[in-house]
Amino acid sequence: MTSMAMRPAVEQLRALSEQFEVPFMDVILIAANAEGARPLRDYPRARMQLRPIGSDEVWQIILPFDNEHSRFEVADGAVKFEGEPVADVVALENDDVVLTYLRAGGNSITLNTHSRSRCTGCMFCPNVIEDASDDTLTSEGQLAELLEWLQADNGWPDLSHAEVITVCSGCFHYPAMAIEHMSSLRRAAERFGFQGRLHLLSSVLRDREDLVRLREECGPFHLTLTLECFERRQLLLKDTKASLTLERSAEIMDDCRELDILADFTYVAGLDSYETAVKGVSFLAPHVGTFPRIQVYQAHNDYMRRARHRDAEDLGYFLRLRRELETVFQPTGLAPRSWENYRPLWYSRFADRPVAGPRV
Ligand code: SF4
Repeated sequence: MTSMAMRPAVEQLRALSEQFEVPFMDVILIAANAEGARPLRDYPRARMQLRPIGSDEVWQIILPFDNEHSRFEVADGAVKFEGEPVADVVALENDDVVLTYLRAGGNSITLNTHSRSRCTGCMFCPNVIEDASDDTLTSEGQLAELLEWLQADNGWPDLSHAEVITVCSGCFHYPAMAIEHMSSLRRAAERFGFQGRLHLLSSVLRDREDLVRLREECGPFHLTLTLECFERRQLLLKDTKASLTLERSAEIMDDCRELDILADFTYVAGLDSYETAVKGVSFLAPHVGTFPRIQVYQAHNDYMRRARHRDAEDLGYFLRLRRELETVFQPTGLAPRSWENYRPLWYSRFADRPVAGPRV
């Protein structure tokens, strides 16, 4: 990150907040995501609930704790920026790859049922540094056991309240594997009264016939294409993901719309040149069915820090991109929701409206 000479660091952030018309709280959280924090205990990264200065809400954020040179640190119950507290720490725990977690008060259930922790190949993926407590559960019976445990653990009468069950996994090598897993999950979840949408993050489902099968066998569906970046794809991504192109992604999302599958994509802000980031997202925006998962690039070690595009060394990259993408998505009427993304470009405000939804 560049420095603006001689001013106290927090004042620099305040100046950026004014210059880009981004709420100060959002500037702090985006900066923390981009920079990471100084080492803390032996945590590679930590899941935190924070109350930023000037906000009376608690926000969830997951930060890498590996950057000796970061201006952020956690000390005395606060996140400090160059020694000045910028957020109270309400809760903090080691972030490992867990088998399940809940968002939006349990309306959204995320499962890592397909050993995400053993998936490797994307240069920026935190899997390599995290402790893993996930596994591969494939049969309907195994998935039903997991859901039964989840239901009991939370004291729910059934799963009829849940709106979405997400499978977050990069490890399906073939479309058929993904479809079979999701259709087993649908059958297992139906046993517990679940009628909501299934959501899969994947790059292997591309052909129309696979999408037709997906819709027929798995019911209401949301497919997020794990696109991640537009440049240097062969270098940064595992082969099965790298082969997905921008044009193909638009076609897949069009097919999804025709088949009544909700579609969007993941994008990691900070890996591409500024111009490419704007061009790529603008190209895809008219094809999405819901607001895409746009995340601030987090580096978990020096090796990953080198993967960041040099344009994105400056915090201004993210703040400008945020503003420009608000304009890009304006005609779609779509906006981000807080609980869908813990390292977004938008925390409290999107364009001229508050970002909706529960924060955790
Ligand atoms: S596909 Fe890539 S980003 Fe996703 S879990 Fe595997 S290595 Fe990580």
